[in-house]
Amino acid sequence: MSKPAFHALKPGATIGILGGGQLGRMLAQAAGQLGLHCHIFAPETDSCAFEVVRRATIADYADRAALDAFAQDCDVITYEFENVPAETAAFLAARKPVLPDPQVLALTQDRLVEKDFVSRLKIPTAPYAAVGSAGELAAAVKKIGLPAVLKTRRLGYDGKGQAMIRKGDDPLKAWRSLGEAPCILEGFVTFACEVSVVAARSRDGKVASFDVAENVHRDHILKTTAVPARISAAEASKARKIAEKIAKAFNYVGVLAVEMFVVKNGRERHVLVNEIAPRVHNSGHWTLDGCTVSQFEQHIRAVAGWTLARPMRLGRVEMTNLIGKEANDYAKWLAIPGACVHLYGKGDPRPGRKMGHVTRVFTK
Ligand code: AMP
Repeated sequence: MSKPAFHALKPGATIGILGGGQLGRMLAQAAGQLGLHCHIFAPETDSCAFEVVRRATIADYADRAALDAFAQDCDVITYEFENVPAETAAFLAARKPVLPDPQVLALTQDRLVEKDFVSRLKIPTAPYAAVGSAGELAAAVKKIGLPAVLKTRRLGYDGKGQAMIRKGDDPLKAWRSLGEAPCILEGFVTFACEVSVVAARSRDGKVASFDVAENVHRDHILKTTAVPARISAAEASKARKIAEKIAKAFNYVGVLAVEMFVVKNGRERHVLVNEIAPRVHNSGHWTLDGCTVSQFEQHIRAVAGWTLARPMRLGRVEMTNLIGKEANDYAKWLAIPGACVHLYGKGDPRPGRKMGHVTRVFTK
């Protein structure tokens, strides 16, 4: 089936969003500012994006009747998470424009396919090898060496689907702990810091990247982002060029994030790509308060076929995630002068659950 034609949206048009978490919620809030409506499609009845949109569909991603009705209501469809089933994306793409193009999902849902893609662009990554059998695991350990990180090819996030293998460990035990799922083995990188670049690309191929962010993870979950990252101007320029090259190679429309390691190799430092997120990203939340345009607005502008804004950072910015019960301390944050508090309206502060974030902008 041929792709439906795309025309730039007019104010009053409806953007469909697959996924109802905080990213969908903040996308919908940005769309509202631009006079656009959103329709969220998500299976979870308590999705925190529902309460800020005009229409919501609670249905399974395989429910074709619900998907068909959703497509009919929307002028363009996008997503807030990368694990949208391929059949869902294909079904919708035959009815309405889906942006970014679903082929990007296929490339980023599988760590091996993603790493191969990045390597073909001659962008460096940690050394890696495919693991699909006990024999391949032994060969991968021999090739990569230890310590190394074994990661499931699919459906890993926030450290889930990962097992560290240290010298002396039994690699098979680590693989068994991941259910012997298809994996990649990655060399363990002792990085100087972790950074990310959030970039937007428009329908006409213009790219606008935000300043490089420096990220600190706790228990594999993003805890803080500081901007600008404490890296050299040359490293920052290299990081941005990498993200822009990936966006162009994908023929991407919307916002994507590229997570990277800055590693020290003797006296030299290198930037390695760790992971690509084909969506708005937690490390870009600082843009809501610390920049003239947010990542959410840029994404909406891009998928609406509108001109991107030129992002201008307002100062040095720090973003802190409120994870699980930390969100109960919201009153403490509210009392800090200049702290911008964002709470996502989620009910249960389960351990590891992203409940909100706080941004502080230092203009001097
Ligand atoms: P990922 O799910 O691949 O983004 O990994 C989550 C976090 O685990 C990263 O942000 C790093 O802090 C850490 N990590 C992942 N892969 C590696 C690696 N190859 N070497 C060192 N640390 C890693």
